[in-house]
Amino acid sequence: MKARDVRELVIVGGGPAGIAAALEARRVGVETLLVDERPGSGGQLGEPIHAWRSERIGGDDAAPGRLSAALGKRGAEVRTDTVAWGIWDREVVLWHPEGGIGVVEARQIILATGAHDRPVIFPGWTLDGVVGANDALSRFRSDGRRPERRTLVAGSGSHVFKVAANLVAAGASVAMVLQTLPSRNTANLLGRPEAATDDVDRLPGCATALAYLHRERIPVRWGYLIVGATGSERVEHAVIAPVDSAWHPLPDAEEAIDVDAVCLAYGEVPASALSRLAGCAHVWDPELGGEVPRRDEWLRTTVPGVLVAGGAGGATGAVAAFAEGRLAGIAAALAGGQLGRAEAERRAAPIRRRLRAFRQLQSADAAAFPVGPGIDELATPDTIICRCEKVTAAAIQAAVDESDDPNTVKALTRAGMGRCQGRNCARPIAAIVARRTGRSIDALPTFTPRPPVRPIPLGALARYARPS
Ligand SMILES: Cc1cc2nc3c(=O)[nH]c(=O)nc-3n(C[C@H](O)[C@H](O)[C@H](O)COP(=O)(O)OP(=O)(O)OC[C@H]3O[C@@H](n4cnc5c(N)ncnc54)[C@H](O)[C@@H]3O)c2cc1C
Repeated sequence: MKARDVRELVIVGGGPAGIAAALEARRVGVETLLVDERPGSGGQLGEPIHAWRSERIGGDDAAPGRLSAALGKRGAEVRTDTVAWGIWDREVVLWHPEGGIGVVEARQIILATGAHDRPVIFPGWTLDGVVGANDALSRFRSDGRRPERRTLVAGSGSHVFKVAANLVAAGASVAMVLQTLPSRNTANLLGRPEAATDDVDRLPGCATALAYLHRERIPVRWGYLIVGATGSERVEHAVIAPVDSAWHPLPDAEEAIDVDAVCLAYGEVPASALSRLAGCAHVWDPELGGEVPRRDEWLRTTVPGVLVAGGAGGATGAVAAFAEGRLAGIAAALAGGQLGRAEAERRAAPIRRRLRAFRQLQSADAAAFPVGPGIDELATPDTIICRCEKVTAAAIQAAVDESDDPNTVKALTRAGMGRCQGRNCARPIAAIVARRTGRSIDALPTFTPRPPVRPIPLGALARYARPS
């Protein structure tokens, strides 16, 4: 990789949002570089997954495989296996296992980094075999492995049904699906025509996914939460319990079920590490349980030249992400002068209308499936909260007694300093601080982002710092 490069537009993330942004920008000749840390583009819903989805659940024109091919035709430069680990002003710092580190200076940057699984911490969550929905899906993509024989898919909202349907269609043996919400909450959602058809989001909607699970005779337990996992080396039992409306487990109602794997699907949190590192202002979104960047009608953040699209901006679902990507691509062309304002507005108008409909659907989904505070209260004192640095809840609580600032708790315990840079533990730590201090979790500062936002080898950094 060249030590220093210049491009008109750099897009980080090759999922539906990043691909759509690149297609739209290339349509009017914007010089575009798209990078993704994965070996292929397509994002969370990569090609192998789509191959079976289209076959088993219905055709899909927006399949990432087709989109990736279109990217090549439009002449976008795509670099896979390439991690964006830092961002300063308009400079994106990349690392490739063979090419090393390089800096690309861009006039416009679109962050389309997607979302990651909402962390849920309970005794035993670190056991081998307990994975997030993204990980479960990645296993297929990386080596075609089938999930283990008896998988429990535990989660909430429409997400858990879609994840479970995806896994079943891929050949996983799903023993049971746990939906935390009681079934009466879904009447509205499932009754809406948009939700009941694949037409709006072209990928299986909530109702479609649920109907598919029924057809495949997968048992669904409503009003249940996973509260623990046990096993000697890897997970052997999942402990589940019915919950009240605040998601607190009912007393003496726990039950253990035999499983080989647990897939957690409690929603997705925007991947905001790069946008926070870039200095973009964020707001806490209680529905998503994470921070979302503040954006205007063109998806521009508060930092000039930096846009955020798709899951990283809080959009849920591949087609909403695709629409956001298109809008961001048009915005980049407007800023670069390839499109005049009137033409950009003309192209943006139908996309914006579509996005408004998606956002309404998303809000209705969140209202129908509210997340209860009990989900953040499952850890016991000896539960590991930060798996990277092996820090327990008791150690976090002791640190909170010294300081109620999550950043100081991080410094005192090293929690949040490991490989995942707090992706899993930042929220649970904030929940402990909030509980012990009586403050609202929404009012607490989040961890200050630090580069590298993704792990990179120290050797590469040293070579870059001292080029020979
Ligand atoms: C198991 C599962 C099932 C799902 N099923 C459905 C469904 O049926 N229907 C539906 O509509 N939606 C579904 N979704 C959600 C859907 O996948 C997302 O909404 C959609 O992929 C978001 O698109 P995106 O482009 O914003 O992000 P993503 O698809 O997540 O793409 C983001 C990309 O950015 C890359 N990236 C992130 N950070 C960096 C970095 N620092 N450097 C380099 N690259 C980076 C990632 O590797 C990734 O490829 C599902 C999700 C999961 C996990």
